[in-house]
Amino acid sequence: MQHGRIICRMKATKMLRSLYALLTLSLVCCAMSPFVQTAYAQTPPAQTSPAQTAPEPQLATREVATQQATAAASSFDQVVDRAIEREHFFMAQMKQLHPLVETYLQNLKQDKELDTPVPISDVYFLGRLDMSEGTDDRTFTSPTTAGLGKRMISKLSNVYSMKFLPLGFAQMVVLDEDFQRRYYDFTFVRREFLGEVRCIVMDVAPKKDAGKGRFLGRVWIEDQDYNIVRFNGTYYPHPRASYYLHFDSWRANLRPGGVWLPSLIYSEESDLKYRLGQTLNYKAQTRLWGYNLKDLRRNSEFTEITIDAPQTVHDQSQKAQDASPIEAQRQWERQAELNVIDRLQQIGLLAPEGEIDKVLSTVVNNMMVTNNIDIQPEIHCRVLMTTPLESFTIGHTIVVSRGMIDVLPDEASLAMILTHELSHIVLGHHLNTKLAFNDRMFFPDERTFERMDFARDRGEEEAADKKAIELLNNSPYKDKLGTAGLFLKAVQARAPALKNLIRGHLGDSLLNGDATRMSSLMTSSPQFDPKKTDQVAALPLGGRVKIDPWNNQLELIKTKPVAITSAAEKMPFEVTPFFPFLTRLGSATPEKAAPVPEKTAAAPTGQ
Ligand SMILES: [Zn+2]
Repeated sequence: MQHGRIICRMKATKMLRSLYALLTLSLVCCAMSPFVQTAYAQTPPAQTSPAQTAPEPQLATREVATQQATAAASSFDQVVDRAIEREHFFMAQMKQLHPLVETYLQNLKQDKELDTPVPISDVYFLGRLDMSEGTDDRTFTSPTTAGLGKRMISKLSNVYSMKFLPLGFAQMVVLDEDFQRRYYDFTFVRREFLGEVRCIVMDVAPKKDAGKGRFLGRVWIEDQDYNIVRFNGTYYPHPRASYYLHFDSWRANLRPGGVWLPSLIYSEESDLKYRLGQTLNYKAQTRLWGYNLKDLRRNSEFTEITIDAPQTVHDQSQKAQDASPIEAQRQWERQAELNVIDRLQQIGLLAPEGEIDKVLSTVVNNMMVTNNIDIQPEIHCRVLMTTPLESFTIGHTIVVSRGMIDVLPDEASLAMILTHELSHIVLGHHLNTKLAFNDRMFFPDERTFERMDFARDRGEEEAADKKAIELLNNSPYKDKLGTAGLFLKAVQARAPALKNLIRGHLGDSLLNGDATRMSSLMTSSPQFDPKKTDQVAALPLGGRVKIDPWNNQLELIKTKPVAITSAAEKMPFEVTPFFPFLTRLGSATPEKAAPVPEKTAAAPTGQ
């Protein structure tokens, strides 16, 4: 089979020459022969033979798993049947769910000096997925075409006239909206572990005349409930004048009962010739989160109750019930702050309180203690779920984006970002209190970026920079600010190409016109040299913060540092493929949970 020979490798992969890109799936249901035949209706080769078993740590549990899986589905044919049935269940589930979808794309061009492709421009989409009638997304952002409606088109760049649709990337969560056995040939490839999850790998290719936009590529099916947990390939064949892109789409086990939902999608083209000898060369990451918005909302109701509660009985006996004018002003500001934070968390843009907030707070506390600063109410730190590099304050809450935390090279540079925000608070820069009126929070989610704006004017920015330098020079970080300055130099160097990454959606960018934030730190830092292997000015995206797409909890990724062997591997601010370590929910020992065959799955017997 020539189709489906899609090998997932990070680079230099010779993928199918056939086409990709624009993604309007017009699934034509063709009348096909009702008689279905798979390519190989055979039992997968047994894994128990020592000669065939790769020396893997899971070896002991592997044999058990093989037996169980074999008991559950005794032939490759049955695996296909189960997987198709699970996929229909998946589609039905997705119609009820409305996660946020974020796509960040970098267009590449070969850099002769580095001998590697580097980003020359970028595109950003953020929206909420709505598949109740096909794949749709309500777009939050569109840098170039705001106001054109939800199906708007965003220009890729001036270099290319090719256009991407946000919808196209959202489409990559779906293998085939009408996945039917009669449209495809299935070929067993092997068994393989993705993380701790054992999978059956198969190639899937549309039959002739199966209609346009069918999936063509490779599929990984976990061997307990037979969910597709990863698929890698493209749609085929493509309609006239549009292309389908290549993608590697990952799902995560987010709910008990074998519920696997889309979490990460990597897409890349390095050699797509599309018109007049023009070549498409890009890489893009799509992340999904905020599946369980209902609970995020419920949480915040509790928060509201606590804020609105009057003083305790004890307090009331000692104090007048009315706040003094100054207290009232403070409470009013606090109310605006809490309203905004609630709203941002409810719509899934702000992570719930968690482990990373504490790490950030520790740095802020270091700054405050060494500078003898005492501020009431207490300062909190929160993380914005999105990729673009930004930070801002909402009253006494410092907000830093996930993308920013990802790319910062060390703690001193994190201290630089946080201290700038701390300085706004120290200097008493106010939050616009119009947000203290609750009715101002009643706007559609997708208008958040229009309705909420925490950007500061130039005067306040400069004052905060000045104050921040003063605070940093009197802190444990004062001798380590070289990397912070170097980071700013990298920002400055890459900003012209990465306009959609190095910008603020809600707050201020690291660049203010031509001026870089805290630019005085740059003078004492080393020369920014992209060719120097041992100089790490900024990290790639996605290296530090891991998202739980169900509840938006964030955690720091614990990976061992990898030695960089060439300058091309530094990839500052860049997008890379995903290789998540898949796990089953709530099972420390993955294979322990017996693969109970589903009662609803009418498993053929006696094969
Ligand atoms: Zn600022």
